[in-house]
Amino acid sequence: MSETTYSIENAKSGRSSCKKCKVKIGKGEIRLGVNAPAGDYNMQSWYHTKCFTLPRKLVKQGIDAATFVADMLVDETEGNVLGDTTYDIVADIEYKLPKKKKGEEEGAVSGASKSMKRIKEDLAKIKAEAVDEEEDEDEGPKRKKVKKEKGKLSENDRARAEVFSMYQGCKNDELKDCLRWNKQMVGGNKDALMTRIIDGHLNGRLGRCPTCKQGRVKLTEDDGGETAYCNGYFDEENGVRVGCFFKCKIDKAPRLHPWYSKEPTEEETEAMEAQDEAAKSGGAVGVEQTEKAKEDTEKLTKLVKRIDWDMSHQPGVRQAAKDMLEIVKSCLAIPSDNKTARFEIGKIILANRNLPATEVLNEVIERFGFSEIKDEAKKKNKEALTSLCANPANAPLVEAFMEMSKLFFKSGDGIRGNANSKAAEAIKGIEFEINEENAHGLGKGKKTKVAGIGKGSAEKMYEFLTTGTVRFYSNYPSLW
Ligand SMILES: [Zn+2]
Ligand SMILES: [Zn+2]
Repeated sequence: MSETTYSIENAKSGRSSCKKCKVKIGKGEIRLGVNAPAGDYNMQSWYHTKCFTLPRKLVKQGIDAATFVADMLVDETEGNVLGDTTYDIVADIEYKLPKKKKGEEEGAVSGASKSMKRIKEDLAKIKAEAVDEEEDEDEGPKRKKVKKEKGKLSENDRARAEVFSMYQGCKNDELKDCLRWNKQMVGGNKDALMTRIIDGHLNGRLGRCPTCKQGRVKLTEDDGGETAYCNGYFDEENGVRVGCFFKCKIDKAPRLHPWYSKEPTEEETEAMEAQDEAAKSGGAVGVEQTEKAKEDTEKLTKLVKRIDWDMSHQPGVRQAAKDMLEIVKSCLAIPSDNKTARFEIGKIILANRNLPATEVLNEVIERFGFSEIKDEAKKKNKEALTSLCANPANAPLVEAFMEMSKLFFKSGDGIRGNANSKAAEAIKGIEFEINEENAHGLGKGKKTKVAGIGKGSAEKMYEFLTTGTVRFYSNYPSLW
């Protein structure tokens, strides 16, 4: 497939120059490469990260600078600096986003700006109240008026205005730093930055998407931060972008705490990362679970040490696999079929035959995971999904469509991947229970057709409801 690819690297020589500003890029300096197919050959161009403009094509697909850097930019730098400098590079690219056509951007700006204007007005009201109250010390009748004014602001309005006054004096760069500390998006004008900061300060950091589990939930700015959305993530293992159409009211968005208004310490950053991992499992992996896993690992290690570990001949390996299985069976999420389990474990043992048994055990744990944690994660994820459905009875359908979507994306079929993901979101919003009778109608018919659901999807729903599975899907029982 000839598609434009993007990479980042240290300039191999001092000969290349930036396509935008025409200035030479020094040897070793970080440069961003665009490799575009042009007939029979590929055209390579280089940019300073600050001179690079996110292609309109990508912006249209809803890909912002953060997504671009995380998902599409291949890191070819010495020492893979991208991980540590992601946020700087995002900021560089956002430095000047492409000028949008008229109308396109207006919504985004006016949404955030409108809400910011209201917050400023609220703040003025609060200040006026304070002054009034001071003046009112002895004047009875005026006090009534103050109370009346007070009633006009909701608690929420009041809280927002107060947070706004905290950050009001910050420069854009300072606001961006704060967003970076909290691993939130750093693009947009001051109103957009402020909208994100006020939301985060009041409600916590936006976490991982409850639908696709991997994408980061973002604040929708065109409605002034009333809703949140996810536009998917990059599946590194399979090298594909997985699309997602998750959307929710802001009060339903997944949150992580605390919000950092000061730069987090190293420990705090580590804790944030652990939290993020936990969020991917739907919150199933907490401190308690980590402790328990540690204990279990110790217990298993003791047992494994007793195995007579002889890797010099085939029967020895076979015996080791058998012994290992016996030990881990009750703790780890290994295949229920003994033969498959022994085979899988045997593979790991063979691949690591030069390592001591205790280290092989760690590989086995890594591969299968603790069943308790996995079950808990599954349960939590199901609960989260169910709570997002207008009708909880439709949750299994949503799950099935999300899984199908992922499979399509992984196989490189983005069109079907998107279709299934869209259908999943559409089902989530349906208030009645989908059943055998009404399933077909969702994909066609003037009155019954639901946006986002095609004929094929309706067909699959019907099949799922009548047989409990979808043929395509049943080829992947491990995912079900
Ligand atoms: Zn340049
Ligand atoms: Zn998502």
